[in-house]
Amino acid sequence: MIFWTKTSKKRKSKPKPTSIVSADRQKLLQRNHTLLGGVVVGIDGHLIEIQARAVQFLGKPATYIKATKIIGMSPGAARETLARIHGAFARLGIHTSPVEILINLAPANIPKQGNWLDLPIALIMLQASGYLPKMDAAQLQKSIFVGELGLHGDVRSVPGVLSIAYAATSGQQIVVPRDNERECQFVQQHNGRINVFGTETLKSVVEFFQGKRYLDGSPSIVSGLNRMSNRMSQLFTWIQRAVSPCRDSNDTPLENMVAPVIDFGMIRGQDQAKRAALICAAGGHHMLMAGPPGEGKSLIAGALPGILPPLTNQERVELTRLHSACGLLANASQTVTRRPMRAVHCTASRNALVGGGRNIPTPGEITRAHLGVLFLDEFPEFARDAIEGLRQPMESGRITIARAEKSLDFPARFTLVAAMNPCPCGHHGTARCTCRSAEVTRYQRRISGPILDRIDLQVSLTALTNAERFSPGTPGQTAQMQCLVTAARTMQSQRFRGESVAFNAAIPGGRVWDFCNFSVAGLAHFQYTVNTNRISSRTMDRLAKVSRTIADLEASERIEPHHITEAASFVIGGIFSVV
Ligand SMILES: [Zn+2]
Repeated sequence: MIFWTKTSKKRKSKPKPTSIVSADRQKLLQRNHTLLGGVVVGIDGHLIEIQARAVQFLGKPATYIKATKIIGMSPGAARETLARIHGAFARLGIHTSPVEILINLAPANIPKQGNWLDLPIALIMLQASGYLPKMDAAQLQKSIFVGELGLHGDVRSVPGVLSIAYAATSGQQIVVPRDNERECQFVQQHNGRINVFGTETLKSVVEFFQGKRYLDGSPSIVSGLNRMSNRMSQLFTWIQRAVSPCRDSNDTPLENMVAPVIDFGMIRGQDQAKRAALICAAGGHHMLMAGPPGEGKSLIAGALPGILPPLTNQERVELTRLHSACGLLANASQTVTRRPMRAVHCTASRNALVGGGRNIPTPGEITRAHLGVLFLDEFPEFARDAIEGLRQPMESGRITIARAEKSLDFPARFTLVAAMNPCPCGHHGTARCTCRSAEVTRYQRRISGPILDRIDLQVSLTALTNAERFSPGTPGQTAQMQCLVTAARTMQSQRFRGESVAFNAAIPGGRVWDFCNFSVAGLAHFQYTVNTNRISSRTMDRLAKVSRTIADLEASERIEPHHITEAASFVIGGIFSVV
């Protein structure tokens, strides 16, 4: 036990010199301290072991900033962490340390940036300086502390806590900022043996270490036992019994951070584009729409997530983890239960679109659109290198980003919906068009061939007629379309059982004939269509895959001639004359 002695009241305004009984000085230097924290790299959580010890007594107590050295973290990040901790300590009336403290963060090969480690580093500094009692090592190994400290001693939320909680092993408990507590309920639903505790202030965690209170803020019923040598290990056990983890997790429904989409029935006209959207959703095909401005391209893209199949539980967890790691959960009660739609402006850079980061890769919009829709309006206006960056993820559903410190792999299985005007003025094919034909060609050629090769569906939208413009909406269309999509996807999951193919659009080039089963008449019509239009093998594969999806929408095992005719209208007779 360490005794802190008061000095004369007259010297109150100056920092209080602290003397420690000499026998305890040696004990303090001999102690090993270890705490667990967590960080997020990319979108994955990693546990970090924080080791600390008091190296030597200082001639004169110094501020914790001066007295502490952190190894295993970049100097800039360490400086900022210590500055925040210094402020939070000042709020608690803790100003100086009598000892020099050395802190090591392991493993060394994981980059440690960000503010996730403020809380555990602050706690271990107080342990090393003798302000907090030594705790039972075995119990501490079970606890993970995560949180950023504010200058007023508050524990602030950090992104990606759910990912860190997933890195915890069964039987561990995680102490997180109160604002991150709710998102962690997914971990409890899927691994009930991890306990989650929310905290609002450093003071409450310090008092918890001192045995004065539980983490939920209620006074400890064992305060009288505080001087027992094993009090902390007992306290942990009591806490597990006394505090119901992640309180009221089931009382109020969690909000959905993805806004509801509009109903297809409220979009007037554009039946051909709506049909393309249905095929797009049913087979996971990418889609390009061309049409005059203001005629519904954005509305159709916005409505598309509503007809994609409902998320499975596993997908909900995956998306909530991902959005948490990207810092997209705006408040404590948000999760992701709908498919996301990310609309990206044409001025977006390649790094913003596919992912980037300076030293450590960070996810881009394609990862935020994972399992949902990526909408790129004004498609020809995007930078060429940004669009070319889509080639790998459009095929594989993943993106690999290499940076100086790390190379990371992010999920990016999105449905691309691109939209463009047919010409620079947007009115190509009508009397209003003012573009020369060379300008139109140049504009359309801005989209590279390899990208067009990966977009299965092309559809032209036309200006609405007056009758269409004033026609009544028919709500409920989205629900009907989603039923068709779900049925078509069920057929596909049976077809691809045991294969690594997610849907028709993802059938690998060489295996199209394994999965696209034509009727006799269907095969003859397919061959006729291919020969008459003189299309390339790649386009032929796309035609077969889209025909397969249209047949799935009719629950037809075999591809019939009329499926091929319709598919050809999107694959061959689209915006560009594809060969
Ligand atoms: Zn024009």
